[in-house]
Amino acid sequence: MPELPEVKVVVLALNKYIINKKIKNLIIYKSKLFKELEPNEFIDKLKNKTIKEITNRGKHIIIKLSDNIVLLSHLRMEGKYRFFDKPSANNPHIIAKFVFDDNSELQYLDSRMFGTFHLRNWNNYDKILPISKIANEPSKINVELLFNELKKSSSPIKTKLLDQELVSGIGNIYVDEALFKAKIHPSTPAKSISIDELTNIINFVNTIMEDSFKKGGTTLFSYESLNRQIGAYQNFLQIHSDNITSCKVCGNKTRKIKVNNRGTYFCPFCQKLK
Ligand SMILES: [Zn+2]
Repeated sequence: MPELPEVKVVVLALNKYIINKKIKNLIIYKSKLFKELEPNEFIDKLKNKTIKEITNRGKHIIIKLSDNIVLLSHLRMEGKYRFFDKPSANNPHIIAKFVFDDNSELQYLDSRMFGTFHLRNWNNYDKILPISKIANEPSKINVELLFNELKKSSSPIKTKLLDQELVSGIGNIYVDEALFKAKIHPSTPAKSISIDELTNIINFVNTIMEDSFKKGGTTLFSYESLNRQIGAYQNFLQIHSDNITSCKVCGNKTRKIKVNNRGTYFCPFCQKLK
């Protein structure tokens, strides 16, 4: 599943390939992913619009177009974009195809079909769901406010850090990596984390995700950014991998457990439960 660094890599690639292009046509092959409106309404609203700006809010991709239109895209498990500079054969997992007025095209592929598209406008997109509930990214989070929220919860710190309404964009891989670096057991009750520990965790999250973004994201399972550009961060993971069996800090055996049903890697020696 793409995490925040991977989504940012996709946003960067989309900016490179489709900014300022005008949509000549949108062809929708599987309408299930297009939410709230009929597929025809998506097509009508997006036709002849020009791509003005592509950013992200958490793991949502925000595509601003001319005439006040905003298209929200979330890749979920397996969503990916492929850009072609001329008309090209459809991939078997194609969901939709944006054809631009220079005949280049952007295919959206999704073998699991969990991805979503929503249509909004520039004035309301961040005031209503799904964007309105997305918290700030770790680099913009107010640690003190987050600390006050964590004080109210006995849930594992890992679970709280994955809650997109508290802090957005930290996924299963990077939370394990950051907790390992901060030497915090992933099952530690959120309310027993000190402000210094939390500051430390968020700092590690930021440096790890920044580093991963620079390396093109982490490739696990079938994540790929545009045009099969494979990320390289998986080669730098310190703990979150079946291939890492002994701790890179102390040399002891690492463990894999479930925390709130998410596969979790940690070192029982470096990350002792309080
Ligand atoms: Zn260790």
